[in-house]
Amino acid sequence: MLSTIMEDYLKAIYYLQNETDDRVRTSALAEYLDVEQPTVTSMMKKLSERGFVHYEPYQGVELTDTGIPVALEIIRHHRLLERYLTDHLEYDWAEVHDEADRLEHHISSQFADRIAEQLGDPAIDPHGDPIPTADLDVSEAKPGDTLADHQMGESVRIERVPDKDPDLLRYLSEHGIHPGIVVTIVETTSFGMVTLDPGSGDDLVALPEEVAHSISTQSLAKSTN
Ligand SMILES: [Zn+2]
Repeated sequence: MLSTIMEDYLKAIYYLQNETDDRVRTSALAEYLDVEQPTVTSMMKKLSERGFVHYEPYQGVELTDTGIPVALEIIRHHRLLERYLTDHLEYDWAEVHDEADRLEHHISSQFADRIAEQLGDPAIDPHGDPIPTADLDVSEAKPGDTLADHQMGESVRIERVPDKDPDLLRYLSEHGIHPGIVVTIVETTSFGMVTLDPGSGDDLVALPEEVAHSISTQSLAKSTN
């Protein structure tokens, strides 16, 4: 049995590995998990002894073929729970991430499968993140375009929004912004501010650079039917 903390490390390594497409530096892991580097180092030794990660001092860390499915199983739990909490328990999408972070470690894969079945095997969670299948297949798109990468006048589909900041999520939903909708870029500024028309008669929304960068988009021309 892995501890909750070990599972959180494996999940974090999976995310960071995916972002950079490279071995994950222990400093990046320490920052991501908000812990001290020596704590990360000793955890990497433990996880490496148990075969979940390849770890070499100063060379970073990556998940082994044993570690990947463990991370994906937890991510499947997390994203299914988020979907279930919003769709069936009337949670706001701003609240589900923390709740799912707690619950994800304590449900069995059978329980996750039942949730998936109940929900009709959803492909994405409320924030647009892909849910790994029961066979732990997932097409985790490589970081692509974000709201910060488009020209004025372009219309783009919102694909994924970051799931960790409840205030941001509340702000976005108040302005009608969620995965799947098409928005038009009304203005971009040299200091990175992006103003959007969310369509459907809602008011224009101005987003600071950091936020615009964190929201993935798909150009309409590129979208496949
Ligand atoms: Zn989440």
